[in-house]
Amino acid sequence: MTGRRFDIDGVAVSGDHFIGGERVGSERTFTNRSPLDWAMTIGEIARGEEETAGLAVDAALDAFDAWVGLGVEGRAAILHRLADVIDDNIDALARVECLDMAMLFDSLKARVIHRGAENFRNYADLATGFEERRWSSKGTANQVHRMPAGPAVIITPWNAPWLLSTWKLAPALAAGNPVILKPAEWSPLSASLLADLSLEAGLPPGVLNVVQGIGEEVGAALVSDPRVRRVSFTGSPEAARHIGVAAARNIVPFTAELGGKGPFVVFEDADLDAAAKKAAWQYDDSGQVCLAGTRLIVQESVAPGFLERFHAYVDTHVLGDSRDPNTTISPMIHPEHLARVDGFVTRAREAGDTIARGGRVWTEDGLWYEPTLIIPSSNDSEVVQREVFGPVLTFQTFTDENDAVGLANSTDYGLSAIVYTSSADRAERVGRQIRAGIVWTNCFLIRDLTAPFGGCGISGIGREGGDYALDFHSDLKTFQVLEGTVT
Ligand code: NAD
Repeated sequence: MTGRRFDIDGVAVSGDHFIGGERVGSERTFTNRSPLDWAMTIGEIARGEEETAGLAVDAALDAFDAWVGLGVEGRAAILHRLADVIDDNIDALARVECLDMAMLFDSLKARVIHRGAENFRNYADLATGFEERRWSSKGTANQVHRMPAGPAVIITPWNAPWLLSTWKLAPALAAGNPVILKPAEWSPLSASLLADLSLEAGLPPGVLNVVQGIGEEVGAALVSDPRVRRVSFTGSPEAARHIGVAAARNIVPFTAELGGKGPFVVFEDADLDAAAKKAAWQYDDSGQVCLAGTRLIVQESVAPGFLERFHAYVDTHVLGDSRDPNTTISPMIHPEHLARVDGFVTRAREAGDTIARGGRVWTEDGLWYEPTLIIPSSNDSEVVQREVFGPVLTFQTFTDENDAVGLANSTDYGLSAIVYTSSADRAERVGRQIRAGIVWTNCFLIRDLTAPFGGCGISGIGREGGDYALDFHSDLKTFQVLEGTVT
């Protein structure tokens, strides 16, 4: 059954799969609701099965040769057109993403959707700008070629679905791989709208396929298909373990961008006000941000001054509807997730941790959780060691630099870290010692798209960003000719 299309604030969005350039339905569906009003059903979404996964890989394989045949310049031209089409549809994409996953509308409209367009532009330019390494060695002329690898499966989580899917799609497509994208079941719609826009931009049928459904069902079928040559995943370590095993069975390269438990370290020489303001900002998107600095680790000597400023900034937050320009904290994605977050806080309370602020569901009839600060009774507390993925921060103090680095590195995660200091030497020393894929000093979330991105420990495997992602999506080949044998 096909033809599930619904109207979101004047924007028509399909609830079907998008395979080989056409809408394809499934007998079974799942219900999509909006976190802005849980009583409201957005629509029924096709629930893909093994057969759907097979069809999507067929379509990607069928499109492979023609996509490769366009060459890097031909592909880049289409990706630039796609970026332009996205920029022409910022308002529609922002409306859909806002209703589907509750990110703040103003920020989507001003920044986030356009960043998706930039992902395509950036990778189109990087791929065309690639210079094959050439050198002479042992009497031979050597070159390194990038060969497109084949169909790539991209699986994304429900938080930041637009940003993450465009960030992962762009290098795969620029490298010459047709893609099957499976968005998360809690926020499936911006990917569906992107599929329509890809047709408008002239992306050949089968180059981008979008399959909807449940991770353990169609997601598992996709990553197990032996014809798939790359798996790029963003989500939880739990799902990554299953997906990694499936990829390994088929000897398929796999990248995983997983959870975080970032330290937010404030030294006594820091601009305390700037640090406190940025710390209060870690509640944005209701804390559903993998890169957030959720463990505040502050030098003892400035802890009272920091806390006073921090509370003052948190007091200015406005919980509300994401479409309201005054809102700074949007609702959480799903009642199940709200209950999961509340479970962490309840267990922390029972274990003797101190709830210094918040610690409750905000209203009975919505999905907001109060911005919460917990002073743990020990560094082993669950709320310090496990990712909550909600508006819950912990607060700890340290005496000296070694102590700070020890606390920063004391979890199994290693995605990101934030350090506030006014000393360049300290920034360098501490930055080098922290085990994380990115360390921000006196800033947060600013990222050059060409920089490597990924995690250490259980925060992930591999690096995305810049040439790292293009290399991942390619099979690198060394091409060698005996010198003097060809003219
Ligand atoms: P999740 O792992 O439950 O789901 C992510 C995606 O994987 C979904 O599309 C889901 O359907 C799919 N999936 C689940 N099990 C699968 C399986 N067995 N086979 C194939 N696909 C499967 O994660 P989530 O709850 O959607 O997202 C939250 C997590 O994502 C958090 O841990 C967060 O930190 C992490 N995250 C990481 C980054 C990063 O860049 N490192 C960015 C955003 C979110």
